[in-house]
Amino acid sequence: MGRQTLHIDIAIIGGGIAGLWTLNQLRNRGYSAVLFEQEALGSYQTIGSQGMIHGGVKYALAGAWSGAAQTISAMPATWRRCLAGDGKVDLRGCRVLSEDFFIWSAATVQSRLSTLLASRLLRGQVTKAAPAEYPAALRSPDFHGQVYRLADLVLDVPSLVDTLASRQRDAIFAIDWAHAELLREDGRAALALADCTVRPEQLVLCAGAGNAALVAGLGSNRPAMQRRPLQQVLVRHEYPEPFYGHCIGARASPRLTISSHRDHRGRPVWYLGGDLSTGAAGEAPGQLVDRARRELAELLPWLDLGSTEWATLELDRAEPRQSAQRKPDGAFVGKLDGVGNARAAWPAKLTLCPDLADELERQLLAEHILPRHRPDLSALAALGHPPVATPYWDTLFR
Ligand SMILES: Cc1cc2nc3c(=O)[nH]c(=O)nc-3n(C[C@H](O)[C@H](O)[C@H](O)COP(=O)(O)OP(=O)(O)OC[C@H]3O[C@@H](n4cnc5c(N)ncnc54)[C@H](O)[C@@H]3O)c2cc1C
Repeated sequence: MGRQTLHIDIAIIGGGIAGLWTLNQLRNRGYSAVLFEQEALGSYQTIGSQGMIHGGVKYALAGAWSGAAQTISAMPATWRRCLAGDGKVDLRGCRVLSEDFFIWSAATVQSRLSTLLASRLLRGQVTKAAPAEYPAALRSPDFHGQVYRLADLVLDVPSLVDTLASRQRDAIFAIDWAHAELLREDGRAALALADCTVRPEQLVLCAGAGNAALVAGLGSNRPAMQRRPLQQVLVRHEYPEPFYGHCIGARASPRLTISSHRDHRGRPVWYLGGDLSTGAAGEAPGQLVDRARRELAELLPWLDLGSTEWATLELDRAEPRQSAQRKPDGAFVGKLDGVGNARAAWPAKLTLCPDLADELERQLLAEHILPRHRPDLSALAALGHPPVATPYWDTLFR
């Protein structure tokens, strides 16, 4: 049998949250679409994320309440519709870890926090919590700070990835670049596989930090990418109560962000981010763990975590390049220079994936790229299907 050509509406490279969300939304819209992943679905940023679906209060605290921050403020409600099976993507089956996310302050900075959070723009996004509603970790007579409840929610990311993947299992394929190649022919991208060439109306690069090499591989240099590295801290312990919260200190960004997870044996793990980790790229892990211990002892001195094990995780946040390494405001979808049918996309936040897929749809419609092809995907069956990535709390502890 000769070499086959597969004409398809959309080919996506990269199966993190951006690629998986896009695949689900476009297929639900009637596009024929396939996704290719080179490792496990959700590898790197997605499986390393804290699963918080932000309503943008973090941005408002930093004084940057732009149009994009208003986009993000709509996101928790968008995700809740999807979780209820009533959105553009069906997330029924995805586990919600918490419907609550808290901001708390140490007593010394509480007046600044209450002024910031009283902002008219934040109405409906944040409410002051009564002591009876405090998360267990803050219910101590020694705690004299303030606690606010955000409209944010926290998802179990492995189950999010699994839910999105299981809805489209027949359209997700493993790719081994030793036997595959992106081609650029007459200014259009195609994908050459061992015995089949995939010719998409649109190629969408959703490979996170892998996008830079894919863009370059197609002979293009734009959109350009930036990496903002950080180092998170994980602590496995014996304190049974979950805790989801940002601690606000003297700066506008959270001093410490805590999310709670369970490893495969049900043991509690706290995942620590915020300023602790954004300033820690390249820091010696032992030194960072010492700082993390001191932070917890200073902020939650009454808490006994029992016996603890510590690990750190270095990751790059991959985003479209901004001036002065600023963080981007919203999801980004941009055409590749010189390649008529290819775009690169970075969500900037897990939270903003619905915005990313909507933006891509708008761009497709503007170019009159509508559902058209009905390919037989059996030509791809030999590639096999990639697994879902294992959470870091199950791989980092010895
Ligand atoms: C520590 C941390 C915590 C975070 N917490 C939050 C949070 O709580 N809430 C929030 O909204 N956002 C959070 N974020 C941001 C969020 O995780 C990212 O914006 C989002 O996961 C990016 O998704 P992605 O699909 O673009 O990239 P990734 O998740 O990095 O996925 C890229 C995928 O592409 C694959 N790939 C790479 N190269 C290739 C290739 N050549 N061929 C095929 N496949 C390829 C990779 O294997 C991977 O599966 C956090 C980020 C970090 C680093």
